[in-house]
Amino acid sequence: MAIRLFDSLTRDYRILGQREPGAPPISQEHPFTFYTCGPTVYAPAHIGNFRTFLVNDVLRRLLELEFGKDRVKHVRNLTDVDDRTIGQAKREHRPLSEITRHWTELFHRDCDALNLLRPHVEPTATSHIREQVDMIEVLMRKGNAYRAPDGSVYFKIGSFPEYGALSRIRERELKVTITVADDDHKDDVGDFALWKAYKPEEDGDVQWPGPTGAAAGRPGWHIECSAMSKKHLGNTIDLHSGGVDLLFPHHENEIAQSQCCNGTTFSRHWYHSEFLLVDGKKMSKSLGNLYTLDDLKAKGFSPMAIRYALLSGHPRKQLNFTLESLHAAESAIATLSLDRARMTTFTKDAPASLSSRFDPVLASLRDDLNSPAALGALFIATKAGPTKPGDLSAFDRALFALGLDLSASPIQISAPAEICALAERRWTAKKAKDYAAADALRKELAAAGWSMLDGKDGYKLEPVKK
Ligand code: AMP
Ligand code: ZN
Repeated sequence: MAIRLFDSLTRDYRILGQREPGAPPISQEHPFTFYTCGPTVYAPAHIGNFRTFLVNDVLRRLLELEFGKDRVKHVRNLTDVDDRTIGQAKREHRPLSEITRHWTELFHRDCDALNLLRPHVEPTATSHIREQVDMIEVLMRKGNAYRAPDGSVYFKIGSFPEYGALSRIRERELKVTITVADDDHKDDVGDFALWKAYKPEEDGDVQWPGPTGAAAGRPGWHIECSAMSKKHLGNTIDLHSGGVDLLFPHHENEIAQSQCCNGTTFSRHWYHSEFLLVDGKKMSKSLGNLYTLDDLKAKGFSPMAIRYALLSGHPRKQLNFTLESLHAAESAIATLSLDRARMTTFTKDAPASLSSRFDPVLASLRDDLNSPAALGALFIATKAGPTKPGDLSAFDRALFALGLDLSASPIQISAPAEICALAERRWTAKKAKDYAAADALRKELAAAGWSMLDGKDGYKLEPVKK
């Protein structure tokens, strides 16, 4: 039972966690290493961004189930210095760190509401300037980078023959893509900035001492992921992921920087998820067609329904977002909550035992993260005949993999008549001080999945918590 995932580099489905001969197998000392490109913290993340982060969250959960919770190390960075963050700080006349702190806090709040597992490390670009400068200096020494007349440093793509392997971008296309956003200091249009010389009119007070021989300034965007993944996960990582827009140039450039600096494969596996659309167009800040979590909460939708709706499309296919899909998701969550409450109420479940009832859910996820198939399998499994021991634990494992937390919408189930009758008999026995009989009846109730909470003048029946 392995996880099979499409690999954007080889353009093929490959099993995760297979390391090359000589590399240590996955263990606590050598955990499965997983790097996700995180948000740029200058504005609220929209649910398009969250689609990407949710897909990665399901992946993280699946990895934990596959390799063990303590054998997975997940890093997701925060981009807290770039043109957009600096621009926002300037517009608001506030220090950069104040802007990025504010949006980081809100990002975390939304992540928690959507039940995203926190990454093990969440490094910021500004707290890794040293590591980025070190890497740039290595690249300059090795002849992969050069200083431009203004003191900026560029990566020389001509020095890395494999450049373009990930995006398969041909040279002609590269020129067309790059010239649009080009500036003048490069030897070749495809070269990209590793370090940007300070420009007082643009950068305000944001600058750091540069690599040896370069001007003061700030890192280019791509180098932060190369430097932070190296520091926290090592030279070769098991899996690198992000939205499909990052494939070129961001990830192509990360590969070039890391492989030229470290002399080894950067990532064994690349996974890219597709966009969330609105009316057929990518949800984005620039198009103004975005919804934030707050927008949708204000319309009365719950974060779990939003999570469900965002997982209802295959991660590698574009998904068109509609409010109708949220209504459907809301009722799906309610049905699942009811199913779970029924299972809790009417079955005895040894926590250690797992039935195979929900295996198709996990099997779908293991097959290239097919979340819509997994959700379908979840519904089929909940309806498949009377509940047996071990089903509830298996249900909870499937819910964990999908990250669906149903505790936010608890369903009260009133006890069935025979349970009420037992409870009445016990209460009468207790009042008559027949403690032996009361105890025996309490055990009988517990075996049926109910506990009795005694008050002074009465009692409450509750399903036994697992
Ligand atoms: P940013 O904060 O702009 O750096 O983006 C953070 C992540 O969101 C990146 O991995 C992007 O690929 C992803 N992203 C941006 N827009 C969308 C969208 N409409 N649908 C899915 N992912 C997106
Ligand atoms: Zn990145």
